[in-house]
Amino acid sequence: MKKRYLLAGAMAFMMSWQVSAQDATAIKYASTITEADLEEYLTFLASDEMEGRETGEKGQKMAAEYLVNFYKEIGLDGPVDGDYLQKFELANVKWGDISLKIGNQKLTNNEDFVFIGDGNMRRSEKKDLVFLGLANEENLSKVDVKDKLVGIWAIGGRAQNVIQDIMDAGAAGAVIVTMEGQANFDRIANRYKALSGRGRLGFDSEDKQQPVFMVSSNKMAEIFDSSVEELKEAAKNDPSVIKSQKATFQVKKNKEMVGTENVMAYLEGTDKKEEVLVISSHYDHIGIDSQGRINNGADDDGSGTVSVMEIAQAFAKAAEDGHRPRRSILFLNVTGEEKGLLGSQYYAENPIFPLENTVNNINIDMVGRIDYEYQDAEDQDYVYVIGSEMLSSHLKTINEYNNITYTGLKLDYRYDAEDDPNRFYYRSDHYNFAKHNIPVIFFFNGVHDDYHQHTDTVDKIEFPLMTKRARLIFHTSWDLANRDERTPVDGTNTRTDR
Ligand SMILES: [Zn+2]
Repeated sequence: MKKRYLLAGAMAFMMSWQVSAQDATAIKYASTITEADLEEYLTFLASDEMEGRETGEKGQKMAAEYLVNFYKEIGLDGPVDGDYLQKFELANVKWGDISLKIGNQKLTNNEDFVFIGDGNMRRSEKKDLVFLGLANEENLSKVDVKDKLVGIWAIGGRAQNVIQDIMDAGAAGAVIVTMEGQANFDRIANRYKALSGRGRLGFDSEDKQQPVFMVSSNKMAEIFDSSVEELKEAAKNDPSVIKSQKATFQVKKNKEMVGTENVMAYLEGTDKKEEVLVISSHYDHIGIDSQGRINNGADDDGSGTVSVMEIAQAFAKAAEDGHRPRRSILFLNVTGEEKGLLGSQYYAENPIFPLENTVNNINIDMVGRIDYEYQDAEDQDYVYVIGSEMLSSHLKTINEYNNITYTGLKLDYRYDAEDDPNRFYYRSDHYNFAKHNIPVIFFFNGVHDDYHQHTDTVDKIEFPLMTKRARLIFHTSWDLANRDERTPVDGTNTRTDR
């Protein structure tokens, strides 16, 4: 209650001088953000030549080169020892052969079982397979799990926690049931099978020797020469009544290192140059689909990337004409967003400018389209604003003020709802800044039919609307870079503890 009251007060105060508060200089440079420029850049960035800008692949690197040349041309500096690229490596992990034999029965991967563990073994291992059922203390006192493969009945529980518990108790691995019903299991097995040829990109980590095989409840009964009912009963009362088996298994993993890069450009500020505002987007996308079609990613996130370019150019022009911002600005186009916000995580863990001096992150991910909610609306001049109330009580007000003064968009806060099932606040790169208590705003147009499809193309972009959105982001950034005080950190970065 209190916070909302204060916010309303701050708002009324700001409104009272808004009429005379238009900044002619800001308006002049906002007007350099044009539909024509945005369309020109995006037509290139979302072209087939970029092959969907897949992380670590040729198209992503071509896009990076395009961005670097642009930033050079408009006179911004490369902040990575004079360079514009922050290079790092990711591991591309592909599962090799995974075998599991119980007694004399050979089980088939992604059919009889799904591998959900980790490991990389030089040779196959032979272990006793015991039935434990539930990983509670009582059962653990009845069944010795040390150095054994352990049969677990984890329906309704958190499989990862149960696995951790038995590994802590010295188990060699697990065969686990996590769901009732053969059809449910088969659906998951099919999904794993479809993805099995593909690698998974992530930060490199040491292999955990943790063989965990998920099976259906029927298969578990078959493995232990028992029935589903018997196993359930034993899990509750006495798991030691189930006869143990012999299991032989091997897990092989192939790992390949892939180089990728964040792109960044720097504009040094004046009297507050130690403080840095970060304006970001991700320039990677999801490459080519299984049917050979290019995912151009015009909206996701070509739109955010060309907005950052155009905003950078506006600030660069202003600086050239003697209107350098008081704070410094880092224009950051990250890689690996589609693989799990990897590029922004890398930046936040290896920042070029200290995070304690990083005042805000303004993140732009999809601002070129109209979503399902607004497709039939009379007024389609909207943008979703996400997270602006979380860490700082001032940020939302500042953005509202700039919108009222200059752009007049409808700012939609629906995804700030505590119970928002989409969890957008956690799903783009700003979250890696919020995690470090840096107040963020995430600008977003919502989801549409072409989201993550090969049909997300440049001809569907609403350039007039996108220009308005980019101008709002410019004005808010101009304000954040020039105001006397940085926004205070007086909130929290997760919804649950609000
Ligand atoms: Zn995106």
